[in-house]
Amino acid sequence: MDEKSIYIDLDGVILDSEQRMLERKFDVGFHDHKDEKQYDAYFEYTNMHHEEWDYIIRGAKSINNSVEIIRELQQLKKRISILTKVHTLYEMKVKVDDLRNNRGINIPIIFVPPGVKKHQVVVPNGEILIDDSIKNIKGWINNGGIGYVFDESILENDKAKVKSLDFLLKG
Ligand SMILES: [Mg+2]
Repeated sequence: MDEKSIYIDLDGVILDSEQRMLERKFDVGFHDHKDEKQYDAYFEYTNMHHEEWDYIIRGAKSINNSVEIIRELQQLKKRISILTKVHTLYEMKVKVDDLRNNRGINIPIIFVPPGVKKHQVVVPNGEILIDDSIKNIKGWINNGGIGYVFDESILENDKAKVKSLDFLLKG
């Protein structure tokens, strides 16, 4: 059988950018992280303040060696891609620039625009998604994919959750 393709989320799996975005959002006055409208307002704000994305992405740290593991996987010519949500075009530009020029990652990057689900951009068809969003994983599995929730805080991997990408090096 053909080797499965693996899709990896960026924010909150490869980089700790999710956390940094929440901190910046809070700092500019959008304090309620449960209110969808506050996210919309913050992303609108970032359209006029590009430095937000520079701070969030360029300063982010690799989570549990994810960047280093991806560099190894790309050397092994594994079929891996990044599947990442973007909110603005500038965010998209910074992500490409940072991954290619600062992190040594050269696998394909697939962007998911606002209002679209990951499983709509890539049809799951038995392929693997690793994502820290339970919602994304549910959508992926319900549409015929194999999904693992990434959670850096768990002690050990189980059938549904992984704490690091290193299991991909063993497969
Ligand atoms: Mg994420």
